[in-house]
Amino acid sequence: MSKILNVTQLGKTYASGNKTLTVLEDVSFSIDTGETFAIVGPSGSGKTTLLGLCAGLDQTDQGTVHLCGVALNELNEDERALLRNREVGFIFQNFQLLPTLTALENVAVPLELQGQKNTHGIAAELLEKVGLQDRKHHYPSQLSGGEQQRVALARAFSSTPSILFADEPTGNLDSETGQKVVELLFDLNKEAGTTLVIVTHDMELAQKTQRILKLKGGKVVTEENQKL
Ligand code: ADP
Repeated sequence: MSKILNVTQLGKTYASGNKTLTVLEDVSFSIDTGETFAIVGPSGSGKTTLLGLCAGLDQTDQGTVHLCGVALNELNEDERALLRNREVGFIFQNFQLLPTLTALENVAVPLELQGQKNTHGIAAELLEKVGLQDRKHHYPSQLSGGEQQRVALARAFSSTPSILFADEPTGNLDSETGQKVVELLFDLNKEAGTTLVIVTHDMELAQKTQRILKLKGGKVVTEENQKL
């Protein structure tokens, strides 16, 4: 099985006044293409930081991340952005939608980048899939957090990424909408073979994945294979 993500001895520190704060230390793991993977741990344990480093949104201090066979630290910012556009989907709380575009236009962006025809027609179908057919022409500021999350999911579907990084995808959703989002995430895995990497507090969601990595104080505590 080929590895889509390979993380080796990753470390990250932040400057805090005249001190340095070690947020991640000696983190190593790898994920197979098509796998579903959860990262869990207490608040402040470094989960979001780890996800950002794996997705090439931030620079590592120590160690390496290979994403889709490419060493991220050997790429410049433009090259990393190109790789993200081609291969990576995001559902991040703070890395969401383009504020000047409607829901429909946001979902159509990846389709336009791929040079597809009828981008608005396909985007409308995807919005219907996530139950937002009556919110097509709303701007992100006119949508609730949960609705924005679902637009982000529709956008991830439209780009059919090789790997999708989701940070607390059910975090600010009511349980019914949360369940719907989880179903759609796993549909994307089944239908398009998209690898899922999900940061979550929700153990029920984590247990739906094939493997769980537990972080505590920036270190890997355990890695559990659930579906041997
Ligand atoms: P989690 O997602 O597990 O809650 P985070 O990765 O968000 O954890 O944060 C881990 C630690 O790193 C926290 O103590 C947080 O305050 C700190 N941290 C995160 N981002 C920054 C930053 N840009 N500058 C300084 N400290 C940060």
